[in-house]
Amino acid sequence: MLDTAHNRPTLPAEIARRRTFAIISHPDAGKTTLTEKFLLFGGAIQMAGQVRAKGEARRTRSDFMKMEQDRGISVSASAMSFDYDGYRFNLVDTPGHSDFSEDTYRTLTAVDAAVMVIDGAKGVESQTRKLFEVCRLRDLPILTFCNKMDRESRDTFEIIDEIQENLAIDVTPASWPIGMGRDFLGCYDLLCNRLELMDRADRNRVAGSIRIEGLDDPRLAEHIPGPLREKLIEEVEMARELLPALDPKAVLEGHMTPIWFGSAINSFGVKELMNGIGTYGPEPQIQAAEPRQIAPEEPKVTGFVFKVQANMDPKHRDRVAFVRMASGHFRRGMKLNHVRTKKPMAVSNPVLFLASDRELAEEAWAGDIIGIPNHGQLRIGDTLTEGEALRVTGIPSFAPELLQSCRAGDPMKAKHLDKALMQFAEEGAAKVFKPMIGSGFIVGVVGALQFEVLASRIEIEYGLPVRFGPTQFTSARWVHGEKAAVEGFVSKNKGHIATDNDGDIVYMTRLQWDIDRIARDHPDLTLSTTKEMQ
Ligand code: GDP
Repeated sequence: MLDTAHNRPTLPAEIARRRTFAIISHPDAGKTTLTEKFLLFGGAIQMAGQVRAKGEARRTRSDFMKMEQDRGISVSASAMSFDYDGYRFNLVDTPGHSDFSEDTYRTLTAVDAAVMVIDGAKGVESQTRKLFEVCRLRDLPILTFCNKMDRESRDTFEIIDEIQENLAIDVTPASWPIGMGRDFLGCYDLLCNRLELMDRADRNRVAGSIRIEGLDDPRLAEHIPGPLREKLIEEVEMARELLPALDPKAVLEGHMTPIWFGSAINSFGVKELMNGIGTYGPEPQIQAAEPRQIAPEEPKVTGFVFKVQANMDPKHRDRVAFVRMASGHFRRGMKLNHVRTKKPMAVSNPVLFLASDRELAEEAWAGDIIGIPNHGQLRIGDTLTEGEALRVTGIPSFAPELLQSCRAGDPMKAKHLDKALMQFAEEGAAKVFKPMIGSGFIVGVVGALQFEVLASRIEIEYGLPVRFGPTQFTSARWVHGEKAAVEGFVSKNKGHIATDNDGDIVYMTRLQWDIDRIARDHPDLTLSTTKEMQ
């Protein structure tokens, strides 16, 4: 295994072999297809087609609702563990639809690396750029897969240039495509000096892997016809001259991304990418926390909740908290300290997520993702330890961009609505604000589709029809400051004040002008668009 300054050679072998990552991409670039091929080569599924397509962006509203009802499957796909070539891969799913970007941001706090999938014909698209920026904030290492090379795609240098320019990151080719579209034959693997040829007949296998001694090896001519061969030799020479060579340390620091070219649907280039994740991807990393950071090799167990999913089984009203293990060796039945409430918690039924199933997790190591079923005690941002009062930091909560009032269809059931909304707020599915003046709630989300999903879930899971309607407000900001200053501000602005589900004070308005004015008139207060969870 790689032994560089940044990877941590002192890690116990079980931790060192873990690779915990997410795939980021613009909808339709091929994330689902690539995931499926990972699972296929990881031995987690027998044939492609078992993971259901999750292209949320293409789905109609009713499809989406159905998906929500059928949460068993979409949830088991939220985190997937499988073994590949001696590594344990933990792949954490991110929703592709931009309306759920907050969920994605939080997911990215639970991984050590990201695989960025781009469509060879389309290059860097809007959602790729957004997600990339989040990875950049955390200096997450990024490995790039340029997909759909079996279709007409852009010139290879142009794709690399676009990534370098648009995302301000050095790009180094790990493989080089030979031909494209109908003429796409495969790739020259620049790291292993091998020819990888694509099998168009069988989408689940790769045709041939041929070891050659560099590009002047006569065997090249046996497999690649003249014009394509000349082009390949010329381009690789140019690439070696013009593009930076692979620097594993720069990759781990997030300054350089290696790029593989391939075709996920043809299983092509996928194994090389997986080998790359193993060799160049980071081992479990140090986790930021207060009052001290957490190193994965510490013998004591710590973990944190980055996602909560409620009502996975509507009959049981259970909730599963997705926990990223930050250190140590966890064993089933351990009693952990729930730091926020200072209460002990016996973790007797933790689950491990496999491709289409979940099973009891007998153990887990730093880097793993486990699910802990609970009745609502565990919230996003919570830390679990063996006793020490540590608090994992850096899990953001964003100010919602859309606000609507929410009322129960049946006024007699208003109390139930209260409970349902609180639950979704704790799940991180929405922000729920209780205005100081007036009745009802104001619900805030990042994307409009979330309102529809919420209304549907409240109806299905609580038997409660609800109505969303317009509010006079369009923005919400958390108010921070000394207690007296906040209280003074609140008493003068009651019509604009609400509390969130944690009881924190929020200022709501429809005018940016108001926000600017408060910043000017109240230097002792800050209005912020994010707050850390907890
Ligand atoms: P996602 O939205 O990013 O999850 O994308 P999907 O994996 O659902 O793929 C979007 C579409 O592109 C589907 O119709 C796939 O069959 C197709 N697709 C995925 N990979 C490839 C590829 O390598 N070549 C071609 N031609 N199509 C692909």
